[in-house]
Amino acid sequence: MSRGKVWLVGAGPGDAELLTLKAARVIGTADVILVDDLVSREVLHHARSAARIVPVGKRGGCPSTPQEFIERLMVAEARAGHEVVRLKGGDPMIFARSGEELAALRAAGIECEIVNGITAGIAAATALGVPLTHRALCHGAIFVTAHAHAGAGPDWKALAATRMPLVIYMGVARCEELQRDLLAAGFAASTPTAIVSNATQPDERRVSAPLARLAGAIGAAGIRSPAVIIVGEVARLLRPPLVIEDHRGVEVG
Ligand code: SAH
Repeated sequence: MSRGKVWLVGAGPGDAELLTLKAARVIGTADVILVDDLVSREVLHHARSAARIVPVGKRGGCPSTPQEFIERLMVAEARAGHEVVRLKGGDPMIFARSGEELAALRAAGIECEIVNGITAGIAAATALGVPLTHRALCHGAIFVTAHAHAGAGPDWKALAATRMPLVIYMGVARCEELQRDLLAAGFAASTPTAIVSNATQPDERRVSAPLARLAGAIGAAGIRSPAVIIVGEVARLLRPPLVIEDHRGVEVG
């Protein structure tokens, strides 16, 4: 039997129309599709009816699928001669454990190809109408996770010194600590922030508040993961009108 191949494919932020043509084609040829939680179900309409779809999500109250299990499964399926698609939310190379997966595939001698998707940070900026790299305000933007790895979080002070907007992933669950860390790192209390949950999906929500009220705004609006938080002057450029729910004490728009 011919040896299979693994594709690491980005499913984009939710709206199935934001899938690349290449991702749609590859999903349509797969024998096995290993799907993360954050992948919109609509994207799977491109799959063949004979394709085996295996959810390997890590959240949602279900027991998590250990990363090593996913890696072993990809290798085993490819060795069995299957075309395997590892479908991830957003882009497969941004906060997606692809480094580990690529290393495991390489070690096993399995051919692998990567197909980009639109990452949540970009989708969130677009949902807000915020030009992330507005040349009058910054020289770039920083994609950063608020999630600590091996006990250490990002060096917020160093990031503050760049004066670039932060596009923060995985920050909502610990937003109080995040707000405290950013203020301690030197961001002004008045720094504009904007939060987008479920970007590009029907239940997308957008909220804006000065940094000093970031956690309060998230709590008042009942914003939950998955959400991206944008911190910096560019967040002032929200495209009006910002349609949001009523939440007291929170500056919107
Ligand atoms: N590979 C993904 C990121 C996975 S990490 C990507 O490129 O987008 C998971 C985090 O991504 C979430 O905690 C949240 O911060 C962000 N995220 C994913 N999908 C999102 C969406 N539709 N709206 C807002 N944030 C999202």
